[in-house]
Amino acid sequence: MSTPSFSARVLKWFDKHGRKHLPWQQDINAYRVWLSEIMLQQTQVATVIPYFERFTARFPTVKALAAAPIDEVLHLWTGLGYYARARNLHKCAQIVVKNHGGEFPVTVEELAELPGIGRSTAGAIASIAYHQRAAILDGNVKRVLARYHAVEGWPGQTDVVNRLWELAEQYTPKSRANHYTQAMMDMGATLCTRSKPKCEICPLREGCIAYAQGNPQEYPGKKPKKALPEKSVQLLMLRNSAGDLLLQQRPAQGIWGGLWSFPELAMDVAADDYVSDHFGEVVEHEVWDSYRHTFSHYHLDITPVLIQLAKSPQTIGEAATHWYNPHQPDALGLAAPVKKLLEKLAQLDPRASIKPIAKLRRKS
Ligand code: SF4
Repeated sequence: MSTPSFSARVLKWFDKHGRKHLPWQQDINAYRVWLSEIMLQQTQVATVIPYFERFTARFPTVKALAAAPIDEVLHLWTGLGYYARARNLHKCAQIVVKNHGGEFPVTVEELAELPGIGRSTAGAIASIAYHQRAAILDGNVKRVLARYHAVEGWPGQTDVVNRLWELAEQYTPKSRANHYTQAMMDMGATLCTRSKPKCEICPLREGCIAYAQGNPQEYPGKKPKKALPEKSVQLLMLRNSAGDLLLQQRPAQGIWGGLWSFPELAMDVAADDYVSDHFGEVVEHEVWDSYRHTFSHYHLDITPVLIQLAKSPQTIGEAATHWYNPHQPDALGLAAPVKKLLEKLAQLDPRASIKPIAKLRRKS
């Protein structure tokens, strides 16, 4: 008897083992599929679930999301990372309302024109929400296809990704494309995993070249490595006499764009002198231990400095500012390291004196 087709094996596996109870698999519509797909980019399912539930409770429709202030969207996104996704999400919702009457377009081409939606996300929406024969190629699907066909090379290279797209198009079935799409994502996430693929129970074992070669982990090829540059910065946690902390809104472009953060200062500037000059009299200061936050393109070594001001300054530069009470937090979009520092600050007694534990650094 001949082996059933690729998609038939995938669908049979899905009927028995595929995930069918995730929150975005209930009440399926384009809005919920789109939201889950954006949240799942570079993020695990378990992490996304509570975010998805909070988002859909607060913004049940794309119209509700489009009408919300961006700050509220960023606040609900805090902790998910890659904040450009949240800004694009909001922008995309507004375009869907303005240009498409609040309904997501139905073709892959039109979907892929919306901000933050690439060809694969467009394919996922078209197949899962609209049951169209549309292929996807997210990280999970790339891994399965690269292994099944032993496609050499890093999928960041055009020729490699083009070959994978060809295969993805070829295997996507005419019927049940919605289940096939979900199944391929599930298989990549649960069977054909990065480091320990469960080939023994995989429905694609027969015909899988990487399995036959005994080297699935070598596919897909890795990105050529280059060392990440390192940067260092001081974060100034300026506290007024009421115990509130000064936050500034970051510019829309660049890291933590549009989020609220502490004022930043280069490492070679003495924080106490700088703060006296720009924000007023310093009563006390404390330098906390430095720690590393890694972005996709560089390492940032952060030295937090807690500074007690004699009083709130009258004028504070050009950035939008906010005095934040860590004991009664406002709903603001916060950069993840700032959120952690604020939680730590909330545990301090605001009336307790802070002590200088180190001389503020000043490089010669
Ligand atoms: S047989 Fe192994 S390597 Fe091949 S698709 Fe299945 S899990 Fe992946």
